[in-house]
Amino acid sequence: MTNYIDIVSQAQILEWLQVFATEIEQNKAYLTELDAAIGDADHGINMDRGFKKVSIQLPTLTDKDISSILKAVSMTLISSIGGASGPLYGTWFLRASTAVVGKQQLTEQDILAILQAGLEGVRQRGKAQLGDKTMVDVLSPAVAAFGQAIGESKRTLQAMQQAVAAAQKGLQETTPMHAKKGRASYLGERSIGHQDPGGTSAYLMLKSFLAVLENSKSIISQIPNEKNCLD
Ligand code: ADP
Ligand code: MG
Repeated sequence: MTNYIDIVSQAQILEWLQVFATEIEQNKAYLTELDAAIGDADHGINMDRGFKKVSIQLPTLTDKDISSILKAVSMTLISSIGGASGPLYGTWFLRASTAVVGKQQLTEQDILAILQAGLEGVRQRGKAQLGDKTMVDVLSPAVAAFGQAIGESKRTLQAMQQAVAAAQKGLQETTPMHAKKGRASYLGERSIGHQDPGGTSAYLMLKSFLAVLENSKSIISQIPNEKNCLD
């Protein structure tokens, strides 16, 4: 048997943020269209405003550790997105930063810690439960799937593939839900039949991370477990 420790570098975190910013830009109209159906038609505009600022900020963060990068992104999002999603994404990134203080690279356990801390922050801040038709319905199954996969000694890449698959399923399941939180809840039963905009951007965030892992040639550092290396 071989044990693997997959390392995600600081450069890959910067790359992820840039890929996510580009995904948001490319999906700006789509996210806004989703929010037009059950909200106030600004989710794409809000997210793109925030992540354009992040994109400009990224070159100033190249010498920072991962926690400092995540914290700086959080501050930018809180000050520029507004709406419900500004504080929620701001909290996600702030909590994520506190989960990996001082780190220049991340193991699979660190990534799990980020995902768990970010979700917990969103839950505390927004008070949404599973089934309320929010980003929690996407983030929560993704965290569970990632945790389960690494618990089964899956590689980071495969664990993230499973997390993104769970996020996609969670996102699809938001469509028949009756919104209980945020502006969509004002619609009551008329919120049924529409995919959640914030869940959609949360899915894009995870998918962007997976894209960076899939593109990478350097993520894998294979550490044979000495005891079992002949297995
Ligand atoms: P606003 O609703 O203020 O216009 P956005 O349109 O940018 O903000 O974001 C809406 C998204 O925010 C929703 O689709 C939902 O996923 C998320 N959201 C709203 N309220 C909450 C909450 N209390 N907890 C978690 N997510 C929420
Ligand atoms: Mg809105």
